[in-house]
Amino acid sequence: MTDFTSLGLAEPILRAISDEGYTTPTPIQAKVIPSMMDGSDILGIAQTGTGKTAAFVLPILHALCGDPMPAKHRTCKALILAPTRELAAQIGDNIRAYGKHSRPSVAVIVGGAKIPPQIKALAKGVDIVVATPGRLLDHVASKNLRLDTTTKVVLDEADQMFDLGFMPQIKRIMGYLPKKRQTMLLSATMPKQVRALAQVFLHNPIEVTVTPNSKPIDRIDQKVVMLKTADKRAALVDYLATPDMERAIVFTRTKRGADKVCKHLEMYGFASAAIHGNKSQNQRVRSLDAFRKGKVNVLVATDIAARGIDVDDVSHVVNFELPNVAEAYVHRVGRTARAGKSGQAIALCDGAERGLLRDIERLIKRKIDVVDRPADSGLKVVPEEERQVLQQPEPAQRKPRRRKPVGKRNEGGGKNSSGRPPQRNRRNRKPSAKAKAA
Ligand code: AMP
Repeated sequence: MTDFTSLGLAEPILRAISDEGYTTPTPIQAKVIPSMMDGSDILGIAQTGTGKTAAFVLPILHALCGDPMPAKHRTCKALILAPTRELAAQIGDNIRAYGKHSRPSVAVIVGGAKIPPQIKALAKGVDIVVATPGRLLDHVASKNLRLDTTTKVVLDEADQMFDLGFMPQIKRIMGYLPKKRQTMLLSATMPKQVRALAQVFLHNPIEVTVTPNSKPIDRIDQKVVMLKTADKRAALVDYLATPDMERAIVFTRTKRGADKVCKHLEMYGFASAAIHGNKSQNQRVRSLDAFRKGKVNVLVATDIAARGIDVDDVSHVVNFELPNVAEAYVHRVGRTARAGKSGQAIALCDGAERGLLRDIERLIKRKIDVVDRPADSGLKVVPEEERQVLQQPEPAQRKPRRRKPVGKRNEGGGKNSSGRPPQRNRRNRKPSAKAKAA
């Protein structure tokens, strides 16, 4: 079996990989790293969870190790494009981890974040820019960044870029890049528009398709509960109160729905946060960070968080509402059972969603077991003053109320401010049916 040393990666990179605890390259890494080091273009069909980020980051870092000249002002040597701000931030984090000994300069350039620090970061010139397409083009238009010397380009999650309508921006960005460059396009699926893009922008690409040995979906214990819409919130509370629930992502179809579900869970003492497109970048970063660090253990999300986001140990995924597009189900449930672990996914399906359920079952080529509603957990509404409300309003709307800093409040399983265990574990209380249905 290949190991990282035999791939010929530079020593500081090997040390960082070893610090991360990686011993063997994943299949996509074993295929992509040597081809990228040879300078080939790559067309990769791979989902998140396969180790694809390291597959493109490590050879870029390796190339940077052999090119000690700093990037010229307002240029970057490598560009990685991602569809969402969260994915871009996560790739930035991975680059910092894998580059901790080789120390490349990295700028994460995403919409919703303040522009002046981005201009400052780009002014000096950077080794790697990780960006979402819109904000990157703003900087190019304002001449804060030139792309004519960028010779390594990665388009990550190209199919999602297409779904989100980024193709015109991608094509414009490609037009600013030099003809002589190395390009890698990664996509979880290969719709014809993405393949057409690859034909135009990649030169004799090596095609790599990775089907994980055990597709993540096979390791997920998937269930569906048939119930009335009005019963969903109570069922959700009961489901999340099960003892093996460590960290859950609850998916809703709409942004308002996500906020409402989040509020409802807070009422029952769950430390939860919502993440969706209407939240400011600051809020999105804060929520994801709180979830990652275990300060909140339930993240309520729209599909923006379904792709690419890699948070360890998500034990449960709840489809509070079924997605309109069946593929989104696969991405949602793929948030659990990562890195070889198992996970549970439950879908709460009302009468109007049966057609969507059938679409999903057709896509995944199997029936999802129907189970009864989770047993009554006995949780009831927690008095307001005892709730762990971590969804602080934006500064402009913030009430002048003294609060303990987030770090001092309950951190996933510890004691809360009243010295009691978190409310979600207090199962001895009698439920209030009226409140649960609220
Ligand atoms: P990705 O597909 O890039 O989102 O990566 C999925 C997960 O696999 C991340 O948590 C990585 O830290 C982890 N990972 C990546 N490469 C390896 C490796 N060679 N060995 C073990 N874990 C890895």
